[in-house]
Amino acid sequence: MAARILDGKALAAQVRAAVKQEVAALSQRGIRPGLAVVLAGDNPASRVYVRNKVRACEETGVRSELYELPAAVSEEALLDRVLALNDDADVHGILVQLPLPKHINASKVLETVSPAKDIDGFHAANLGALVAGVPHMVPCTPAGVMRLLDHAGVQLAGARAVVIGRSNIVGKPLALLLLARDATVTVCHSKSRDLQDIARSADVLVAAVGRAKLVTGAMVKPGACVIDVGVNRLPDGSLCGDVDFAAASAVAAWITPVPGGVGPMTIAMLLENCVRAARTQI
Ligand code: NAD
Repeated sequence: MAARILDGKALAAQVRAAVKQEVAALSQRGIRPGLAVVLAGDNPASRVYVRNKVRACEETGVRSELYELPAAVSEEALLDRVLALNDDADVHGILVQLPLPKHINASKVLETVSPAKDIDGFHAANLGALVAGVPHMVPCTPAGVMRLLDHAGVQLAGARAVVIGRSNIVGKPLALLLLARDATVTVCHSKSRDLQDIARSADVLVAAVGRAKLVTGAMVKPGACVIDVGVNRLPDGSLCGDVDFAAASAVAAWITPVPGGVGPMTIAMLLENCVRAARTQI
């Protein structure tokens, strides 16, 4: 039986509609949630991501400001921009688009964003709050994955969850969120042995690596829920996830497509975080 599709595009549209209502309610009280996006350099993929985020803001009524800085911008100038945004009362959320140019210390920049305005949830204070089990700003992609799982009614307590990928922005925070929901969590990475066997033990299998079709049908437990975070561009220009969709969907019970799965949820969670930040700051 073919897996049921976890439609991130449809769910994200619902979230955005709710955000729009909340923004309208706040606007009636004279408050307009505001997001500042800082883009340094001319990475084409970053430009597309930023454009999509700004467009989503416009659609929901969140005010957005885009600061485009040249690739050669100094670290000092970038930090000064972030500090100015920290002090700007009309800006409730700050997003520094990654990756930053190589000569800039990205950790230093992310640690300079005020934790209250850190709507990406990348600041150590927000990641620490997640570890402590008192999350405040949760990174958007992991938050979007959890929302998709809940929407599908996937049972997490006691379930075996395997997360492939251990980045600070996806794999690690997602593992913590699943753990907080009483799943038994295993995190795999580039040095993990027996990846196929570990993956095949998962009731919930998440791939967040950035390697097209790394997850084969043989790595999926029959009846599992498969979440594909990966975004890879194939030589023909099309997008592809980390999961072999055709093979995995013949085995799994639930699966996210790429595109149209986790990606739209990431932007929807960003908007939610921005409104939450505005509420907290007023
Ligand atoms: P990253 O490069 O920071 O981390 C990749 C992780 O994969 C690392 O922990 C590494 O150890 C692991 N890995 C590499 N090769 C492996 C292998 N052969 N077997 C097992 N693990 C392996 O990447 P990231 O920022 O976490 O992003 C991962 C993917 O998710 C990318 O394709 C990225 O484009 C995508 N992404 C999508 C969204 C979205 O909204 N859909 C958001 C963020 C990232």
